[in-house]
Amino acid sequence: MAQNESVDVVLVGAGIMSATLAVLLKELDPTLKLEVVEAMDSGAAESSNPWNNAGTGHAGLCELNYTPQAADGSIDIKKAVHINTQFEVSRQFWAYLSKKNTFGSARAFINPVPHLSYVEGDKGVSFLKKRFEMLKQHHAFAEMEYTEDKGVMNEWMPLMMPGRPADQHIAATRVAKGTDVNFGALTNKLLKVLGDTPDAQVKYSKKVVGLRRNGNGWTVSIKDVNSGGSREVDARFVFLGAGGAALPLLQLSGIPESKGFGGFPVSGQWLRCDNPEIVKQHQAKVYSQAAVGAPPMSVPHLDTRVVDGKTSLLFGPYAGFTTKFLKHGSLMDLPLSVRMGNIGPMLAVARDNMDLTKYLVSEVMQSMEQRLESLRRFYPEAKAEDWRLEVAGQRVQIIKKDPKKGGILQFGTELVSAQDGSLAALLGASPGASVTVSIMLELIERCFPEQAKGAWAAKLKEIFPAREKALATDAALYRKISADNDVALELVEDSPAKHYA
Ligand SMILES: Cc1cc2nc3c(=O)[nH]c(=O)nc-3n(C[C@H](O)[C@H](O)[C@H](O)COP(=O)(O)OP(=O)(O)OC[C@H]3O[C@@H](n4cnc5c(N)ncnc54)[C@H](O)[C@@H]3O)c2cc1C
Repeated sequence: MAQNESVDVVLVGAGIMSATLAVLLKELDPTLKLEVVEAMDSGAAESSNPWNNAGTGHAGLCELNYTPQAADGSIDIKKAVHINTQFEVSRQFWAYLSKKNTFGSARAFINPVPHLSYVEGDKGVSFLKKRFEMLKQHHAFAEMEYTEDKGVMNEWMPLMMPGRPADQHIAATRVAKGTDVNFGALTNKLLKVLGDTPDAQVKYSKKVVGLRRNGNGWTVSIKDVNSGGSREVDARFVFLGAGGAALPLLQLSGIPESKGFGGFPVSGQWLRCDNPEIVKQHQAKVYSQAAVGAPPMSVPHLDTRVVDGKTSLLFGPYAGFTTKFLKHGSLMDLPLSVRMGNIGPMLAVARDNMDLTKYLVSEVMQSMEQRLESLRRFYPEAKAEDWRLEVAGQRVQIIKKDPKKGGILQFGTELVSAQDGSLAALLGASPGASVTVSIMLELIERCFPEQAKGAWAAKLKEIFPAREKALATDAALYRKISADNDVALELVEDSPAKHYA
């Protein structure tokens, strides 16, 4: 019998997660032999595609759900600070790559777009003011501005102001140095770097259909989507970066750590506007509060998007329910993921989240006029003819065992790995692409602990001079790293010293 091909690492899926991990591993050990296996005929064809996500460089600057308010009125900023520092870690990696001649200009994937939060009514205004006062004390948010002045808001978000009742009580915060990120362009840049690197291959139209342990790691069965032919590859380490499809692959691996996990798919839609007359009046990502009972990923926002040099507006997302785990997936994805080990948690989540299911179904049933009504809360003079409906990417929220409730629904991401560190999968979707690098560093520390502390430590320090904890606590260090990244990513024209003066 012919021997299988053998590599050090197989990465399933050519989205932002696998592309980032693959390039990072090659930086740390150029001798590693890697293969990225992608079912579609190009990279970033699922959630990482720029029109399947909102492209917000999540840094906690505008997302009101990152600063929850407790019953006593206090506001917790820990999550916003953590995500902010994680984003700064991503920026360090992109800055490191951008300083290399082979990566090209960072402006192909990251652009400055101010991040705003906008609220209505006395309760909303009082929350935003309090949140601003808390955040402003932390160095990561020192540049945040707050206003209740409609003249100032007219400068910050001119498209959103005409047509409002004169007595409407509204407020906004703004951080000028927010960003829009084209995660598809970034993914494809990373895949290109990889394709040009010795001993790294990216194979398209190839689907991973089987995973089994061998004495030295894993044997991965790969099917050619076009010819139907198949091959097997042996790998010491496998990363399941398959987006929504990571759960079924994790189940296929049979590792004990996979037991009890289930998936709750949530689809999405946007309204998109390409009319240049309207687009030019809005240069911001404006986030507000989700409707009561709505899940965190349905927080409405009106966004400037910069994709391939062209600017558009996106509004949404309108959530929805489907049983597919990927946009190009199958309606059988959810039913086929039910196992003896996860049926309990899945039923518990179904029982405890009837309101969420009802909400998602009601979102799917909305007419175009109802969707426009939601948009008019942001942009009162919006006209139907300027907007069209687009289908967003698919998010599979995590269902996991819970000792008290039987099962819970989790809206974040979770890295699940085999005890021997030979396989890891990324489940969940939020805050997603912006914090990819932090997640992949966690994976490296968990699955390659000896190398991370030993042979790779110096290179890790060179690429990441400051990690999340130091960035959260050392104001001077944060300012220096952030300013250096702004310059490397071409987000400021002047010197960092001048920018932060
Ligand atoms: C509506 C929406 C809005 C979002 N907004 C933002 C945002 O503003 N900012 C942000 O940072 N993040 C955002 N996200 C999250 C972000 O898009 C995701 O976290 C990120 O793109 C996930 O990347 P990934 O590489 O894990 O998965 P994906 O990009 O989905 O890639 C997975 C790949 O695996 C392939 N694949 C699957 N199964 C197999 C198989 N068996 N064999 C081979 N290949 C396979 C798929 O074809 C796909 O190409 C948003 C997501 C959605 C859905």
